[in-house]
Amino acid sequence: MAVSLPATASPTAAAVAAPAAGHVVVDGVSIRYRADGHDVHAVDNVSFEIRPGEKFILLGPSGCGKSTLLNAVAGFLRPTAGRILLDGTTIQRPGPDRVVVFQEFNQLLPWRTVLGNVAYPLRVARNLGRQESDARARRFLDMVGLDRSVGAYPHTLSGGMKQRVAIARALALDPAVLLMDEPFASLDALTRTRMQQELNGIWAQTRKTIFFVTHSIQEAVLLGSRILVLTPGPGRLRAIVENAADGAPLDSPEFAAMESQVRGLLALPLDGRGES
Ligand code: ADP
Ligand code: MG
Repeated sequence: MAVSLPATASPTAAAVAAPAAGHVVVDGVSIRYRADGHDVHAVDNVSFEIRPGEKFILLGPSGCGKSTLLNAVAGFLRPTAGRILLDGTTIQRPGPDRVVVFQEFNQLLPWRTVLGNVAYPLRVARNLGRQESDARARRFLDMVGLDRSVGAYPHTLSGGMKQRVAIARALALDPAVLLMDEPFASLDALTRTRMQQELNGIWAQTRKTIFFVTHSIQEAVLLGSRILVLTPGPGRLRAIVENAADGAPLDSPEFAAMESQVRGLLALPLDGRGES
């Protein structure tokens, strides 16, 4: 599946996008860390598949190995056992076909403007000229609602705006898979809800494969096409569920039913909502 670009894409911008499917296969993956002379078993024999163009959520309690798995898909670390494939090729190292948006607000270059933060990686990783990279950066900053902040420096932005820049930067690079590790966890509740809705809107426009990590049941149900539930560490696969409430309003019975199903899978007491 070719990734469709927004209708305003110039021919040059469209040419940036290497045809990307974004099909991820995680096959029998176990990951151990060696720390202070002993082994930490972070992920235990996990297998799943992310279909091209889906919003795939990895949900589990803190410390269950979510970031570890995401970092392995990013290529930052290698599985101790098993393998991970992207579009049929084993992932060995990081690459521009996978871009990560992290939780931390300080993932931007402080000495570059908002525009520079999005355009510069396009020049380096995609070999675009200044004009092309600036035009493409503006288009994606537009998409995340930052068209009026292109000249601002990161220290002048709110946390939500910084995360928007990071998302625009990731999308502009047109990776096969967008990896998101609790990108909204540090935002205030109102901004978080708005960003979640915006991400759904962006996904509807780009149909990008998204691998999204969260410990929030509500966020998983708001954003996921499918939700993988991990057990507490070492992370094992408890279940993969189709999200019957994908696109349903927060206050709908479908949403509540899905939250309750997922909460049951996490085996939390009913009053422990698993939210931060
Ligand atoms: P999550 O993202 O679900 O909160 P992590 O993947 O960060 O969980 O961590 C899973 C387990 O692996 C935890 O027990 C954590 O302490 C451990 N861990 C994570 N990173 C390292 C590391 N670099 N070295 C040693 N242990 C680690
Ligand atoms: Mg984590």
